[in-house]
Amino acid sequence: MSNNDFLSGGFSPALESADHFTIKKSYDLFIGGKWVKAAKQIPTTNPATGETLSKVGLAGKKEVNQAVRAARKAYDKVWSQMPAAERGKYLYRIARLIQERAREFAVVESIDGGKPIRESRDIDVPLAAAHFFYHAGWADKLNFAFAGAKVAPIGVVGQVIPWNFPLLMAAWKIAPALACGNTVVLKPAETTPLTALKLAELIEDSGLPAGVINIVTGAGETGQALVEHPDVDKVAFTGSTTVGKAIRRSMAGTGKRFTLELGGKAANIVFEDAPINEAVEGIVNGIFFNQGHVCCAGSRLYVQESIAKKVIKKLQKRMETLVVGNPLDKNTDIGAINSTEQLERIKKLVKDGKKEGACMWQPSGGVPRKGNWFKPTLFTECAQSHRIVQEEIFGPVLAIQTFRTPQEALTKANNTPYGLSGGVWTDKGSKIFKMTAGLNAGVVWANTFNKFDPTSPFGGYKESGIGREGGLQGLASYCQISH
Ligand code: NAP
Ligand code: MG
Repeated sequence: MSNNDFLSGGFSPALESADHFTIKKSYDLFIGGKWVKAAKQIPTTNPATGETLSKVGLAGKKEVNQAVRAARKAYDKVWSQMPAAERGKYLYRIARLIQERAREFAVVESIDGGKPIRESRDIDVPLAAAHFFYHAGWADKLNFAFAGAKVAPIGVVGQVIPWNFPLLMAAWKIAPALACGNTVVLKPAETTPLTALKLAELIEDSGLPAGVINIVTGAGETGQALVEHPDVDKVAFTGSTTVGKAIRRSMAGTGKRFTLELGGKAANIVFEDAPINEAVEGIVNGIFFNQGHVCCAGSRLYVQESIAKKVIKKLQKRMETLVVGNPLDKNTDIGAINSTEQLERIKKLVKDGKKEGACMWQPSGGVPRKGNWFKPTLFTECAQSHRIVQEEIFGPVLAIQTFRTPQEALTKANNTPYGLSGGVWTDKGSKIFKMTAGLNAGVVWANTFNKFDPTSPFGGYKESGIGREGGLQGLASYCQISH
């Protein structure tokens, strides 16, 4: 596909080059420090073009077994015995190697998953390195993190991650597990395995002892084999609520520790005293960041009635300027939808939104001819019962409603099965305190949205999951702590 097939929003194309690294024709599984062939392979494609990028192993029960055995051996013989300061040194080394290869990781992330290069370059990859740096620092200070307690690792951790932040999710899961002395088997998502496999190559370069990190690519059944494996001591899962529930059921009675980071339907609440232009930027960032493939996306906008018309008008004007196009173009704001399956799901929910009586609006610009695309979309005239208000769309679609009083905003915002995140826009500090205390959400941003940091715990209530990752709370979930 030539660049002329993409749109650059009237700007000259500013393409990030993809000629400084190679993607191999095929990748094996990374088990016990070696590359192990799987019986079958599955392709991974570029969602912006439909091209097949590579083939990766489809790990079955046999290979998952092999990986868990390797992780157990590394745990018993090496990693749990190693002085904590030495463990920390490996994590620092991995963090620095990610920084050194940042450009390559960013480009591969954008090619394999469809996200704009500006985001993979400025958010995903630096944050992945930051997770390793942060947790490297904790490795030899766990007794200070939990003062007066005895701190021990848990054992072998099975980790399953989704496709929306592939490298970042891998780092966010692996770094705390290793810092606390555990070993891991990680299963990346089927549509975005490449940066995890590049991370495996980097881990080889780092000299990390064999078996401490094992990476098994594959499909849903690979994840299932991993989380159901009897020799896994803890499961850390990020993904959909449906799969999270099935995993929790399968773990009942096993004694396994677990954290589940699941779906969301965040309310972004804008009061009449908010800085409107900044709030509009926050709304755009809240829902259109990463094509809306974000668990904590601000997918429900609650705007105070007195300013609703003004905010919607400004929002539409801003949305007219968003560039939907080639993920590798630095002008691009909204890249490709990660898979045809996800595109179909978005289309179906949008269709239902119209059928149920909400009013859809999209900007006038086009989308590229080939590949998976969806224009930034907003709905007004929404009711609380509409599917587009209740269900996670996981795409660039915003449902707008209005409110008159803070209490009404809280009641509407909390009327959801989810409880992952929320946002409040107001000039008044006391209102921020009232709303953040009243919102039933694990993370609430005030006058900003979608800000992430490894020092800050992340996780949800209700159907958004259980447990926290990041910060001290996240660290605690990878340790056995006894007083
Ligand atoms: P998903 O279908 O649940 O898949 C997530 C991961 O689980 C993938 O690696 C998937 O493998 C694997 N998997 C599928 N079936 C499994 C099973 N029965 N047992 C074990 N693993 C299984 O979710 P998704 O569609 O990839 O991701 C989107 C969802 O993730 C959204 O709901 C989003 O909100 C949520 N998410 C939550 C957070 C958070 O921190 N709360 C962060 C990011 C995303 P395959 O890819 O091979 O199917
Ligand atoms: Mg792909």
